[in-house]
Amino acid sequence: MDSGARELPVGLLTLQGDYAKHEAAFRALGCATRGVRRPGELEGLRCLVIPGGESTTMTRLIDRVGLRGPLRDFAAQRPVMGTCAGLIMLAAGLADEAPEHGVRPLGLLDCTVRRNGYGTQVDSFDAAVEVDGLPGAGGPFPAVFIRAPRIVRTGPGVEVLARHGGEPVAVRQGHLLGLTFHPELTDDLRLHRAFLDLC
Ligand code: GLN
Repeated sequence: MDSGARELPVGLLTLQGDYAKHEAAFRALGCATRGVRRPGELEGLRCLVIPGGESTTMTRLIDRVGLRGPLRDFAAQRPVMGTCAGLIMLAAGLADEAPEHGVRPLGLLDCTVRRNGYGTQVDSFDAAVEVDGLPGAGGPFPAVFIRAPRIVRTGPGVEVLARHGGEPVAVRQGHLLGLTFHPELTDDLRLHRAFLDLC
């Protein structure tokens, strides 16, 4: 990507979820950010983050405002990071999902996820995970898992960057990055910085 793109703002899908913490992380790294709630707002962004939240609601809002096609087109050109519900939205498909929940992933990252794969809110947990290729020193990443999805299949083009209990929790396919946990809920900015390095 040309050096001019580095001056462009980082986009945050602000339809729903905990985008404010991502915004704070990118600001701390010296990047301007811009919220995206409708298709025209994807213009002129360096990259996009789909935050954690609730994939049922996110699906409904994405389709209501007509963002499904534009998000897919954007991701073909520019980096996208999906965290937790955001990863669910990036995924190719869902395992064991009741259709009445109405979650419809965008089908961008070749993996299958199981929503709420560790259980309910009370089964949320923190874990230190080793992530491949993190910038700088600092040891394992303090990952916060909240009603997290489990990645139950990865396609051949998908690189596993981190595992927890042997299962993938951070994956990358080209310029698409998917995390089952919330990097924005710690003071550790290394994953946000690594994402910017993809841009
Ligand atoms: N369980 C939520 C979902 O299915 C994701 C939770 C989260 O993003 N922290 O959308």
